[in-house]
Amino acid sequence: MKSSFDIAVFEGDGIGPEIMRPTLALLDRVARRHQLALRFNEVSAGAAHYARTGEALPQASMDAARSADAVLLGAMGLPDVRYDDGTEISPQIDLRRELHLFAGVRPVTLAEHQRSPIRIEPGRRVDFVLIRESTEGLFWSLGRGEVSDEEARETLVITRKTSEKLFRFAFDLAARRKAEGRGAGRVTCVDKANVFRAFAFFRGIFDEEAAERPELVADHAYVDAMALRMIQTPWDLDVLVTENMFGDILSDLGAGLMGGLGLAPSADIGDRHAVFQPCHGSAPDIAGQGAANPHAMILSAAMMLEWLGHQHQVPAAVSAGDELRRAVEQTLSDQRRLTRDLGGDASTEEAGHAVAGLLEGVAA
Ligand code: NAD
Repeated sequence: MKSSFDIAVFEGDGIGPEIMRPTLALLDRVARRHQLALRFNEVSAGAAHYARTGEALPQASMDAARSADAVLLGAMGLPDVRYDDGTEISPQIDLRRELHLFAGVRPVTLAEHQRSPIRIEPGRRVDFVLIRESTEGLFWSLGRGEVSDEEARETLVITRKTSEKLFRFAFDLAARRKAEGRGAGRVTCVDKANVFRAFAFFRGIFDEEAAERPELVADHAYVDAMALRMIQTPWDLDVLVTENMFGDILSDLGAGLMGGLGLAPSADIGDRHAVFQPCHGSAPDIAGQGAANPHAMILSAAMMLEWLGHQHQVPAAVSAGDELRRAVEQTLSDQRRLTRDLGGDASTEEAGHAVAGLLEGVAA
């Protein structure tokens, strides 16, 4: 059975290196506890790298990502560093495209003691997953938009091939969550099929896949109605699957529900490759202060361990990821261990140490 994994590490820009440091230390620690070895290969890319060298994502870094078992990414992009056309340097989007990472997985979890802008009724637990298609939709248009003095056009693309893979991924995830006791086995297709033909096409493919999975429940919601449901009854949701731009927006809403971007992890998953990174950006406003919240990065690393475990049938990696996730969840109940964004005054390093201190305690 495979027990060592090669991880390509993109620290990236702004707070990227600050949140990556405690994450790698924790990964190393939890992997050893489960007799696993992680080999970290640090590679360059991002806005600062572009400013220095004129290259945003060097070929050697792309090759390292392609040959690794998984990719960990801090955050990339700086508002002042741009291409000549005015758009930002965003190698994370190039990675998605090059590695065909069609499924953007955004878990939204909220424990009873976690701070949230909404009131969670006693006894309820919010635990759902938003899957954002990540290679096409409106983002297909990236770099292809047509702009004249009089008008601007961008194109939305939905393909059968990617949609089928996306929906299969969503139903598989719902089945696994149901088996783990984390979900009801329901997948909701989030679209705007009442207005746009492209979304009626998207929904039609979803229904075809749903017909193949009679053991699971499939339903639909319009994206505007889903935004409301995410606020009013988030505890009723299980697996949501949607187009790229809708997913981009709803995933920040999910991060807001969780108490902020500093707690929202993500994974971009394809058939063979996967990139794990927090939902937030490089936070240049707080970079260099040692104040960044590392939790979203650590939770993304936990998702990486679980994915590696499922991908290679290594139960120890799944357990290691679960242990890391539960250690983070436990730190959230203690205000002294939290960073500024969550109302505490712990530094990035102290928040990482707090998770490390809880690792042994949450071991099954
Ligand atoms: P951002 O997520 O970087 O920051 C938004 C706000 O949230 C800021 O006030 C920031 O301080 C705060 N914040 C974010 N992460 C935090 C953390 N871990 N701990 C504490 N506070 C945190 O979004 P932005 O300001 O719109 O973008 C900054 C740069 O990041 C831009 O160049 C943008 O293009 C890039 N970006 C990159 C990614 C990515 O790498 N996947 C995603 C979004 C934005």
